[in-house]
Order: sequence, then structure tokens, then C-alpha cells
Amino acid sequence: MQMYEIIGKKRDKKRLAQEEIEYFVSAYTKGQIPDYQASALLMAIFLNGMDAEETFHLTYSMMNSGKVLDLSSVPGIKVDKHSTGGVGDKVSLILAPLVASCGVKVPMLSGRGLGHTGGTLDKLESIPGFRTDLSLRKFTRILSEIGVCVIGQTKEIAPADRKMYALRDVTATVNSIPLIASSIMSKKLAEGADAFVFDVKVGNGAFMQKQDEAVLLAKNLIQIAKRFKKKAVALLTDMNEPLGEMVGNSIEVVEAIHALKGRAPCDLMEVTMALGARMLVLGKKTKTLGEAEKKLKRAIESGKAIDKFAEMAKKQGGNPKVIYDFGVLPWAKYKLLVNSDSQGFVQSVDTRKIGLCAVKLGAGREKMDSLIDPGVGMLIKKKVGDSVRKSEPLAVVFANNLQKAVQASQEIKQAYQIKRSKRNSLKKVLLIVDEKGVRKLKG
Ligand code: URA
Repeated sequence: MQMYEIIGKKRDKKRLAQEEIEYFVSAYTKGQIPDYQASALLMAIFLNGMDAEETFHLTYSMMNSGKVLDLSSVPGIKVDKHSTGGVGDKVSLILAPLVASCGVKVPMLSGRGLGHTGGTLDKLESIPGFRTDLSLRKFTRILSEIGVCVIGQTKEIAPADRKMYALRDVTATVNSIPLIASSIMSKKLAEGADAFVFDVKVGNGAFMQKQDEAVLLAKNLIQIAKRFKKKAVALLTDMNEPLGEMVGNSIEVVEAIHALKGRAPCDLMEVTMALGARMLVLGKKTKTLGEAEKKLKRAIESGKAIDKFAEMAKKQGGNPKVIYDFGVLPWAKYKLLVNSDSQGFVQSVDTRKIGLCAVKLGAGREKMDSLIDPGVGMLIKKKVGDSVRKSEPLAVVFANNLQKAVQASQEIKQAYQIKRSKRNSLKKVLLIVDEKGVRKLKG
């Protein structure tokens, strides 16, 4: 097969055949196709798209480029959750142990921070000793023993995605719906779960800024899952301000622990409960979403949820004392209040700017090989719709470098738009997308 012809076909807006897609994925993974030809094809896909059939074949080939885990030895229905990435999005840290404490098995393959967004693995690794680079054998064993395990993409899982993602990252071809959908699904399907809940973020702190793009991505994810005979639901959730109040690594672990003990900001719990309830229904632990929410609440109130977090931390090498002693976490040296220069109501928050600010403080990576500083971050004191007095704190910055703290403080102020007019707070769960279509949440 000629790569030149495959590229030409996609350039001319023609459909690629299954064999052509399979050839490209397999040969590129083996190093038989040079990056310049792979880049040209990815750009042609970026510009001209792929239909459902092509996207399915791309996902299938990428999934089969490595190991596909068989979790049939683990009894029960296995349900995973995936977020497309946001700022302050610590939902996975709460959801994985919470849902597992209600009896659903949660095999979770998570990612690191990407661009301005934070990553579950980086957050969990701020707990001293916590390992996310476990072998697939150990992953399966822990999942059988305690019902939950969170690891990163190993070398064996979807290696084609690893290679293609790295190339997309430097060829401006990340933001393509068929490429994103196949990238996410190839990893998720290789991990062996039976059902998925997707949190598709939309807004100024998400990769998808517009609702119609986010809906399209959600529909693609659902369609692919269906082709693989997996059940899936996607929620479109707002990312026009950081989720919850904490942004960083150690600090987000703290917020997740508070949430598992029943003390979380409303917006964070709105998203967590909506996703968690769907995981329980998919995992056949309850029939209705109402029952599922009650079960999740009971797990929090009884202490089962936080105990499961401690168990998960211990099994994965982390210090379980973290659930009652935040002193075991790394913390930054300096704390700086970011006081408002004006008064009124918060109209909007440039969430991407907040995320980038956290990255510059060291909570994320500016370069591929940058080291994360787990103790830095920020506490968001004012959210959209809140009233603000002059000199009242908008946020608190935690930094290990005073100059960076001052710069972050200025950037946070610039991220806030404050005006005299009142403004409603932001609803978090916007739409549900599943096999039946797109609809609003009832109530
Ligand atoms: N997350 C992924 O895993 N892949 C993408 O392409 C984008 C976000």
C-alpha cells in the first residue's frame, strides 16, 4: 500500500477504506512510515474529517496496536469515567473511590496535565509514595481486591495513540473530533471496562469551547462505544470557571478528600453526583438515578467512600494517613492573597488563563520534561455570580517563588471580569448525550 495515495485520498475529501486505515496505524506504530507522511495524513484528517465508519476503523486499529486487557477474571460490571480535561477538575479523585465503595468496579486509566488543564495522575502522585505506573497485572490484581485502581497509559496500551498524539501535539492537529474521539476510545477500550461515563467539558477552560463542538465529540464517543457493544453516557459540563475551589495538585487532593467526607463546594458535587449516579446505574447497582444518588450520599456519610480512598492510596503505595493529616502532602512556602481592585459581581473568569497561571507556578508542565511542583496552586475564593468588595480576596496563590506568586496574582486579577450588574452563578451539568440523543437534565 502506498502512503502517498492514502494521503492524497484524504486530501481530496474521499473516504479511507478499513485496510488503508489499518495499514497506516500499524506501519506508523512500527516506525515504517516517516513522521512527515503521518503528519500530512493527520492534517488532511484534521481539515476534511472522517465519517463514523472511518472513525470506528481508526479507533479499532489504534486499540489493537497494543495489548487489550481482559478483565473477565474480575467479577462484576466494570465502569470507567473519562473527562476531556479542565481546570480544577478533581472529579476522578472523588469518583473512583466513591463509586467503588458502592460496589461498582472502577478500572481507571487516567492522564497527566495537558496544556492548561490538570491531570489526575499528577494530582494523585502528590500523595507521597503513590504509584500510577503499575504493571497491568498489578492493576488487575488491585482492581479485583479492592474494586478500584487508577494508573496511567502503559507502554503496552494503545502505542499508536502515544505516537500519534505526540505528533499531533506538535503539528497543530490535536483539535479534531475524529482524532480526539479515536484517541480517547482506543485507550479506554484497551483497558477492558464494560461501560463508560464521559465528562465532556465545554467553555473557556476546555478544549471544546463551543457547545455544538462538544456535543459532536460526545456523540462520536457514544457512537464508537456502541459499535464496540459498550454502554456509555456523556454529560456536557460547564468549564467557564474552575471546578470547585482548588487548582493545583496537593491542594486538589485536599479538596477531593473533603468531598469524600461530605464537605465539597456545590458545583463540584453537582458534577460528581451526576456522573457517579450514572456509573452506578451502568454498573447495575441501582435501577434509577435517584436511588443511585442516595447510595452515593450514604457512602459519603457512612465513611465508606473516604475509607476506600485510603485503601486505594495504600494499595498503590501512597501514604493513607493523607485522609486525616494533610501535613503529609508537600506544600508551598509562600501564600499570597489576590485582592480585587474593583467591586461588583463576577461576570466571567478566563479559565484558560487561570489554568496557564497554575502551570507557570509549577502545577503543570511548560515543557514535556518539566517537573511538577506538587505544593503550588491556588484557592479560588470568588466564582461567577459572586459579589466582590474592593480589596476582598478573589483568590489565594500558593507558590515556591515570590516573583512567580506576584505575577500569578496579576494574571488572576486580569482573568476576572467584575461589573456592577448582577449575574447568575453557572449551572454545571448542561446536557446529556447517550444512544437516545441529546437532552437536558431534568429538574
Ligand atoms: N485526550 C486524549 O486522550 N486524546 C486527545 O486527542 C485529546 C484529549
